[in-house]
Amino acid sequence: MADCIFCKIIAKEIPSHAVWENDRFLAFLTIRPVNPGHLLMIPKVHADSVFALPAARYQELFEAAKALSAPLQHAMGSARVGMVVEGFGVPHAHLHLVPINGPRELDSTRERDASPGELEAVAKTIRNEIENGSH
Ligand SMILES: [Zn+2]
Repeated sequence: MADCIFCKIIAKEIPSHAVWENDRFLAFLTIRPVNPGHLLMIPKVHADSVFALPAARYQELFEAAKALSAPLQHAMGSARVGMVVEGFGVPHAHLHLVPINGPRELDSTRERDASPGELEAVAKTIRNEIENGSH
């Protein structure tokens, strides 16, 4: 979709701190995390929300999130990985995957701007865990 910021990230018209992708999905760090390591997992085909995805793609999206959860948790040293679906920020289907140490940490009012240097350092840590960690 022409004006969709996530479609532009997928097309690499806008840079992102990507940590993982395959032919169908992309996971990258949000620039306004509630906690360090806050990822967005998106399908590469535009859909207004996760619930608008075809059933198979919907299932694959959550399986991709499952596959990233252990390396994300290990990379960030968090107690859990939380997941949020709400879709108010950008009308392109996305899951929030957030390293958390308590239930209130998923509150979106905790969002803050992260510096490019911080985002790149965190992205490197997560990419390294995905590629080299044992899960
Ligand atoms: Zn889009």
